[in-house]
Amino acid sequence: MRQTPGKDGLVSTEQTWTIGRLLEWTTNYLRQKGSESPRLDTEVLLAHALGCKRIDLYARHGEEAPEPGRQRFRELVRQRIEGCPVAYLVGRKEFFSLDFTISRSVLIPRPDTECLVIECLRLAKEKTEPKILDVGTGSGCIAVAVAKHLKTARVTAVDISPEALAVAASNADRHGVGERIRFIQGDLFASLPPGERYDFILGNPPYIPREEIAKLADGVRNYEPHLALDGGVNGFAVFERLIAEASTHLNPDGYLLIEIGSPQEVPARERISRHEGYELEKTIRDGSGHPRVLIARWQGNGTSSRAKA
Ligand code: GLN
Repeated sequence: MRQTPGKDGLVSTEQTWTIGRLLEWTTNYLRQKGSESPRLDTEVLLAHALGCKRIDLYARHGEEAPEPGRQRFRELVRQRIEGCPVAYLVGRKEFFSLDFTISRSVLIPRPDTECLVIECLRLAKEKTEPKILDVGTGSGCIAVAVAKHLKTARVTAVDISPEALAVAASNADRHGVGERIRFIQGDLFASLPPGERYDFILGNPPYIPREEIAKLADGVRNYEPHLALDGGVNGFAVFERLIAEASTHLNPDGYLLIEIGSPQEVPARERISRHEGYELEKTIRDGSGHPRVLIARWQGNGTSSRAKA
């Protein structure tokens, strides 16, 4: 067997699975198998399997990968090939520059949702101690990001799924905001103290029209919780309930910020306009330029001159 000393003096052979070789080989393999981000997937999975940071893979390029780590890596790659999203394989995902623990009970936080947090932070500057409700919190990414950046905010996070709430609560503790977020299990507003009102109601409700679920990418359709995706026959089942019920939980001049599917902008705006008392602001676009978040200010039914007759 031909042996050549590597740059760092470690002996490398054609049969030696150095970290560098593993990266190259697996990147090609995942590319052939159809991954859209084969290099990134490989790096994230290998770093996870070896228990190191992604950046360390470069410093350790010529090092032989230890066998237990390689075994873990092979298993992760196998599951990736079957379609499991990388975020579920490693149990975490970054959102708003914070690291979130996730499980298959929650949607993988999407960068698309970050614009909702940005808008909430912008609008909350006007309030000294904003009361914020995150409806359908999932991993808690919205509630935690908001609580982290608004030190005086009092946040309530609701989810129908107890498993999701446990994930959200662990993320809140991890980021040091567990004391400032109250977690409540329930269906939208059903378990909230009656008459409790907020300055902000935030939500990323399930909004995929039911018949389109079958057409979603495999990684989404086969792995993400349908409870968090399925928006009923037209995609607006939860949206409609949310906008109708939010009105009894918003303070005057409180805001509803709600994520939508980008093709839903026109019908979603129309549905909000039909409700007396909301004033719609401009639709917010996500980082890819797609319509993503609707903002509606609550003016109260019939109490404001701007409310509809
Ligand atoms: N944005 C998600 C997707 O496209 C859906 C999230 C939702 O239904 N709230 O898969």
